[in-house]
Amino acid sequence: MLSNNKFNLKKAKELDEKDILSSYRNQFFFPKKNKKNVLYFAGNSLGLQPRDVSKYIQNELDDWANLGVEVHFLASNPWLTYHKILTDQSAEIVGAKKNEVVVMNALTTNIHLLLMSFYRPTKKKYKILCEANAFPSDLYALQSQVELHGYSFEEAIILIDSDENGVVDHDNLYKMIYDLGEELALVFIGGVNYYTGQVFNMKEITKIGHEVGALVGFDLAHAAGNISLSLHKWKVDFATWCSYKYLNSGPGNVSGVFVHQNQSKKKPFRLSGWWGSSEKNRFFYDPKKRFQVLDGAEGWQLSNAPVLSMACHKASLDVFTKAGFSNLLEKSSLLTFYLEQVFLDFNKYSDDIQFSIITPKKPIKPGCQLSISVNHSGKKIYDYLKENGVIVDWREPNVIRFAPVPLYNSFEDIYKLSKILLNAIKR
Ligand SMILES: *Cc1c(COP(=O)(O)O)cnc(C)c1O
Repeated sequence: MLSNNKFNLKKAKELDEKDILSSYRNQFFFPKKNKKNVLYFAGNSLGLQPRDVSKYIQNELDDWANLGVEVHFLASNPWLTYHKILTDQSAEIVGAKKNEVVVMNALTTNIHLLLMSFYRPTKKKYKILCEANAFPSDLYALQSQVELHGYSFEEAIILIDSDENGVVDHDNLYKMIYDLGEELALVFIGGVNYYTGQVFNMKEITKIGHEVGALVGFDLAHAAGNISLSLHKWKVDFATWCSYKYLNSGPGNVSGVFVHQNQSKKKPFRLSGWWGSSEKNRFFYDPKKRFQVLDGAEGWQLSNAPVLSMACHKASLDVFTKAGFSNLLEKSSLLTFYLEQVFLDFNKYSDDIQFSIITPKKPIKPGCQLSISVNHSGKKIYDYLKENGVIVDWREPNVIRFAPVPLYNSFEDIYKLSKILLNAIKR
């Protein structure tokens, strides 16, 4: 198996030696099975914990203990403006200007806040285009938003057709946008589909959405920290993402928000709270002035920052910055290439179990997640992997998702995975 000499243990070790990021895996805690580190390929679902996280939290706890309420002004990172220390790094990861991003709340909450501003249907223009196999939370959010405006799901939500694996044909997607034309209020899809790993052509979708007068927003839960993004340049209207998948910031943690400056300048309606108000009026409600919104994405904030959660996020973003995002993207495509070779190779040798990679390569190449559909016994293979210390992610009815993450996965990890997979299919 693994037919040629392109990928053997020696080659894997050589690639790891050449990899300038290979030491970064030491900055993470790996779960253990029988006292050995597992092979972790589930960073698309929950990123591993950076070892420094507890230091960052302890620093905030110490400042709070020592300063009490003065922590807002005198802490090493003053809590009054804590969210700002996440801005530059978040802007880099999604390709935004600094005043276009803010970190706050959790992802689904932010989807709602953004839809309150950017889904303002009229009698003629009220439809939302989204993926049929969107992440359930997104569909729940969309349903309640259209109902808020008096529409049913069936009336207002148009699901994008996909093939039997859930993969969307882009030409068909563009045609659906043109066909909906003036009725289309909003395109809202995942930048990377959570199930198939398909990467959408966000630039083109945004351009075509704008041609028919619709707004275009993306859920970047599986894109942020995984693929190269240029939200500002692409003129995406708004986007939001979570920090606990590729961004390794801990379960349920804070979410990032992007609002293009072309949109924030228009000062659209929003649900408001004191943290989105101009600093002058934050503590005093002036009945004459009412709510004076902050410029940019920060104006969507409601509450003061959950500093302990944000400290985890900061710890993780600092690892990204040290590693360099472009280095990570480069390594990611090499790792993913090798993983792909493993599956292609298996198929050559096995006339029973066949793996098909459902993650499409076009029009945009995938990030580090490959979704593999297995012709039969998929669940058994998944269980065997788990028993043997490989953490991947199973989706009914027959899909296993593998994500080799450049910060903490190695070429040797992929080699070891191939060996265990081979044993799994021999059984
Ligand atoms: C992970 C994920 C969510 C989860 O939302 P939370 O509000 O963070 O629980 C929502 N949407 C997508 C597309 C996801 O991948």
